[in-house]
Amino acid sequence: MKAVLIEKAEDTQSVSVKDVSEDQLPDGDVLVDVAYSTLNYKDALAITGKAPVVRRFPMVPGIDFTGTVAESSHADFKPGDRVILNGWGVGEKHWGGLAERARVSGDWLVPLPAPIDLRQAAAIGTAGYTAMLCVLALERQGVMPGDGEIVVSGAAGGVGSVAIALLAAKGYEVAAVTGRAAEADYLRGLGAASVIDRSELTGKVRPLGQERWSGGIDVAGSTVLANMLSMMKYRGVVAACGLAAGMELPSSVAPFILRGVTLAGVDSVMCPKSDRLEAWARLASDLDLGKLEELTTELPFAEVIETASKFIDGTVRGRIVVPVNP
Ligand code: NDP
Repeated sequence: MKAVLIEKAEDTQSVSVKDVSEDQLPDGDVLVDVAYSTLNYKDALAITGKAPVVRRFPMVPGIDFTGTVAESSHADFKPGDRVILNGWGVGEKHWGGLAERARVSGDWLVPLPAPIDLRQAAAIGTAGYTAMLCVLALERQGVMPGDGEIVVSGAAGGVGSVAIALLAAKGYEVAAVTGRAAEADYLRGLGAASVIDRSELTGKVRPLGQERWSGGIDVAGSTVLANMLSMMKYRGVVAACGLAAGMELPSSVAPFILRGVTLAGVDSVMCPKSDRLEAWARLASDLDLGKLEELTTELPFAEVIETASKFIDGTVRGRIVVPVNP
């Protein structure tokens, strides 16, 4: 089978498209014919080697995929079932989606929810499913449409684009933060009410800033998240899921103890199955599929490796779907 393979010899990482024997697939009780994989920020880190995402070599990257069950000894799945996989260390510790077949634990799989198809589920991918987890985190903390603006960082990226479409569909007013002014029309097209230059969130962090937003979804971390927290309105809530700007958080306790701000952490990788099923059901019911198509680009399998570096440069718009065996 055809696969992207990351190898390591004497501390040097290399990556190429190779023919790999199916016998080399890791253990698992479900074999899946991969229809689509996708490119996420973490895949880019793995393929470029910019961060130690890959824990075992050789590794097939691809933290997510959609496809059809070919063989199963898991009680919940039978051949022909259409499934989605996100995370669980796939593409990091366990061979991932950028190959024609994947063998995984059936416990990791989510059945494809109607009305979305395999390509749409891949277009949503881990970035979109994480955006949904962030929206659910805001809802759980009581942030409602009509409460005031929700700020979304990394707006033109994968998580940001899907988050805007989801929030707008539910009637939230969205302020999109981007470093790319040229994407303003794209962001308004997804449903953003206003577009903010990223520089407004990268300056010196004050313990408390002007109260601007009722909620936030942050993919950047670092100074962007710290500034977002300091500009939350009283009892505002920020769902934080990313580190596109950095791992550190140069904040103070002021937003928490003086404004009652909540910082809700969001992890998609080890997220329990019940939350995944809820997120995918909500994606299937809430997401405007026309907007999903607008934010999706298809990338040939052969161009995956050369495209990965665009994530590191921050120049990818929306989501990238990779047809494997559509
Ligand atoms: P993308 O590359 O598609 O989007 C990231 C966006 O962040 C960019 O498009 C850019 O948007 C913005 N950005 C880039 N560099 C910076 C910077 N230095 N400062 C501020 N903003 C910046 O990635 P994804 O959407 O796939 O992922 C976003 C983040 O979320 C990543 O850090 C990823 O690791 C994380 N993530 C975490 C998950 C979890 O389970 N916690 C799951 C999925 C993703 P713009 O040009 O519009 O500003």
